[in-house]
Amino acid sequence: MNLRTAVFPGSFDPFTVGHADIVKRALPLFDQIVIALGENSQKKYMNTLEERMNNIRAIFKDYDQIQVDSFKGLTVDYCKKIDARFLLRGLRNTADFEYERNIANMNREIHPEVETVFLMCSPQHVSVSSTIVREIIKHGGDASPFLPVKP
Ligand code: ADP
Repeated sequence: MNLRTAVFPGSFDPFTVGHADIVKRALPLFDQIVIALGENSQKKYMNTLEERMNNIRAIFKDYDQIQVDSFKGLTVDYCKKIDARFLLRGLRNTADFEYERNIANMNREIHPEVETVFLMCSPQHVSVSSTIVREIIKHGGDASPFLPVKP
């Protein structure tokens, strides 16, 4: 059977309630969702790749449909490699839209058979970003309202 697999790519530094919301709402659309962390050696992360992957695995440990992986290189190449026909992204605002539209169009040029699927962010998470959560943590604030609970 041809499984409907979606890749949800990102840095997830850290994985927020906004990310979790997108993944959970996408579950009925796909047979499996692979949360894939892009490895970018140029970027400075708060948490190591291993820490971020283990954190996401713990959040979704009760979900058989969800896997966590990492990749190097282009996201669409990774999609082709694991035979995923869908690339899942979340949209918070017009800035996300402009950025994501360009990437989706270029990705379509590279691999037309990989379809990008967008879900609108839920209103309660529209202002949540990993960047701001990192700032809160750096300055000793309580970031727990923005981080998914682990079962
Ligand atoms: P990237 O490094 O690719 O920007 P992120 O980890 O910031 O990756 O985000 C991954 C995906 O999650 C992107 O599609 C982004 O738009 C989406 N996203 C980020 N924050 C939220 C949020 N609060 N609600 C919904 N989607 C979000």
